Parts: sequence; structure tokens; C-alpha cells
Amino acid sequence: MAKRDYYEVLGVDKNAGNSEIKSAYRRLAMKYHPDKNRDDPDAAEKFKEASEAYEVLSDPKKRNLYDQFGHAGVDSQFGAGGFQWSDFTHAGDFSDIFGDLGGIFENFFGGAFRGFGARTRRYSANRGEDLKISLSLTLEEIATGVSKKIKVSTKSECEFCHGTGSADGKISTCPQCNGTGQVRQVRQSFFGQMSTISTCPKCQGKGTIIKNKCPHCYGEGRIPKVKTVKIDIPAGIADGQYLKLRGQGNAGKQGGPSGDILVFIKEKRNDIFERDGQDLICTFPITVSKAVLGGSIDVPTLQKHIKMKIPSGTQSEKVFRLRGQGLPYLNSSRRGDLYVKIIVVIPTKLSSNERELYKKLELFDEKRNLKPGKTFFEKLKEYFV
Ligand SMILES: [Zn+2]
Ligand SMILES: [Zn+2]
Repeated sequence: MAKRDYYEVLGVDKNAGNSEIKSAYRRLAMKYHPDKNRDDPDAAEKFKEASEAYEVLSDPKKRNLYDQFGHAGVDSQFGAGGFQWSDFTHAGDFSDIFGDLGGIFENFFGGAFRGFGARTRRYSANRGEDLKISLSLTLEEIATGVSKKIKVSTKSECEFCHGTGSADGKISTCPQCNGTGQVRQVRQSFFGQMSTISTCPKCQGKGTIIKNKCPHCYGEGRIPKVKTVKIDIPAGIADGQYLKLRGQGNAGKQGGPSGDILVFIKEKRNDIFERDGQDLICTFPITVSKAVLGGSIDVPTLQKHIKMKIPSGTQSEKVFRLRGQGLPYLNSSRRGDLYVKIIVVIPTKLSSNERELYKKLELFDEKRNLKPGKTFFEKLKEYFV
């Protein structure tokens, strides 16, 4: 059978960008996912074909070779038997698709396919759950770093049984799996008959069972508890980043390891500053006379006000940069900058005195001969320093 064109396999154009190629592959991988195609023997081949195409087209070097020389250009990248699953290096990028296939692939491909399994989280069956919380911070708090104490609902170790879950302290080996926590099963699957190892249903993988359960925690070894955790937030953190408090999440079942707390940072809106990475931006209004004559203004920063000189003839929308007055970089003494955008405010209410003065100025303005056109906007651009 002649090999199909990779672009055709993925159903994308020859000029397709990376994200287009990625989403085309994702679509096909979902479609030919073995779990959804147990009765379709062709699906596995199609899945593999799409994966081969993705392997080549997602790599600029291989794609280039393929574009120039076709299949002959890239065949040498794979072994004598052509593309094998062990050649696929992107399983981790699609862990949502491949993650739960780990077991199947490892068994099917004789362990050659470590890529799938490695990314799958292999926690102890007893491990406590991770807890996710979000924490809103002001820009001022982010600028200096801050320490917070917050209350979290957790499951904590049961004091009565010391987390074992056993009322009398006796824990016996699970008779079904003999303490291994796993049972071997031979089953008919999409890839043919294969033997799989799965979690023991009697002990849920723990390898032990408790006959006489602790009455306080019903054998779980943990009970609900609200605890206060201290979070040290480093200066310079950004919205969407998170901190991990290791071992502070839910206690494990029957003495298993604790989970973590993940603290997701949210940034509160600031009325004065906008944030762009570690830089801050603010607009600052000045009067016409200050714009014309120059002078100094008191610019706010996150800590204090600082004096900034305005040269005479400053135009509206001119941006000044104050170096090092932005936010600190994480774990660094370096800081971003503060950009101050000047807005010249035209007065709308004038006293008769002011009106007289502007009328006098108008005589001078008539000689200035301002013209509309592109060059004016070109000049405007130059005001950004
Ligand atoms: Zn207990
Ligand atoms: Zn068992």
C-alpha cells in the first residue's frame, strides 16, 4: 500500500501552522482513540498513521526534509520497520488523550512505549488529594511579597487511630492480592488478547484490609478539619501562577502520604496602574501650561510619589519611562519599569480672564499653520520613548 501524504493524513494545508497541525492531530487522535473504537480494527492503524504524520510535521527539521524529499526524506528517521509507537515523542503533549492509555500501550508495546507511562501520575493509592485554593492579591502586596494565613477545609489525620483507620491497631494483608495491591487479568481488547494488571478491587490497591474499623473515621484514617496554613508569597508573582505547599493537602488514607495545597494567585484590579509583565503603566493628566512650559509632576509609584521632570513642549500621549519603578522579578533584585503616559487636559470652563489670555495667544497660533496628514501621526509615534 502506498504511503499517504502526511498533510493529507492530517487533513491540513501544506502551509498549515503549528497550532493548526496540532489541533488537526488532536481531532484525529480523539476520533481514533482505542477506547472509542473497540470494534473497529482499522482505527489503531489510523491512529498510528496520524501520529506518524504529526511526529514529522510538528518538527521543523523533519517537516523540511519531508517537504523537500517526501517520505524518502524522513523514512530514515524511523527504524527498518517504519514508524513505531516508540518513535512518537509527543505523547506527553497530549496527556489528556494518551494519559489513560498508558497501561494499554505499555502492555501492548512491551514497555517500549515509556513515553505514555512516564507522564501518568503514579501516586500511592493511599495518597491524600491535592487541594486547590485561590488567593487574591493587590499590586502593592505583589510588589513587596507578603505572608498570609488562610483557613482551609482539609481531611486531617484521625487522632483516635493515628491515621491507621483501625480501631484495634490490627491491619491484615489483603487475601485477594496477597498484599501487592494489584491483580492480573487476561482480557480481550482492541489490540487483541492481552494481560493487564489492575488495582485490586478488594483493597483498592492498598494491599491491606482492616477488619475492625476505627469508629471515628470509619476506617479512613482521616477526618474533616479546618486548618490554618501560612503562605509566603514571593514579590513579583503574577496572576495565574501558583505556589505548591507540599504535604499540606489532605492527609492520606490509612496513613498514606499527604497531598499538596496548590495556591493559585489572582491579581486584584488596581485603579491607577496597569500591569504588563513586571512593568507598570499609568496615565497622568497635566495642564496645557505645564505641557507648554514644562515643570515637574508628582508621579505615583506602588510605594511612594516621586518627582518627574516634564520638558517644555510635551505633547499629549508622550510616554516617559521611569527605570526600576515597576514590579520586582521573581527571586531577583531586578525590577521592571514604570511607564507614565502624559495626557494634556484641555480646560472646558474658562473664567473671563483666562478667555482674554487665550484670545491673545490665538493671534500667535494663527501663524503656526498646522496641517492634517500622515506625517502628523508619524510624528505622534516618535513621542513614545
Ligand atoms: Zn480513626
Ligand atoms: Zn488487595
